Amino acid sequence: MHETSYALMIVDTVMEALKEKNLEDVKVKKIILRVGELSLIDPIALQNAFDALTADIPVLSGAKLEIEIVSAKIRCNKCGKIWNFKELYPELKENIPIIHLYPHIVADLLKCPKCGSTDVEIVQGDEFQVVGFEIE
Ligand SMILES: [Zn+2]
Repeated sequence: MHETSYALMIVDTVMEALKEKNLEDVKVKKIILRVGELSLIDPIALQNAFDALTADIPVLSGAKLEIEIVSAKIRCNKCGKIWNFKELYPELKENIPIIHLYPHIVADLLKCPKCGSTDVEIVQGDEFQVVGFEIE
């Protein structure tokens, strides 16, 4: 499952950072993530996968994942137009929880609204990063 591999990556990254700082006897209460809206992550599934993975890791178990959403920005290599998710779907307010339910939206998004070209580049919006964490 998609979310499990991301959850594993979070566990590895945070454990590595704790080790580097010699903070192995602590309890992490919050982990802050930057997630692009094109990464198709379901925040609830991600938290569930994380909880399952960390059930036996006292340092991490119970930590809450806080997600900062990075809006998508796409550029057409043919005509140079730059657009985003909101421009194509102004009626949608919350991006991530919706976009993961409708992956076909991504296909629409990856087509230039001006010239129709699919020779496009994701400028931002497909990232997944652990930006920090808080210790109890
Ligand atoms: Zn174009």
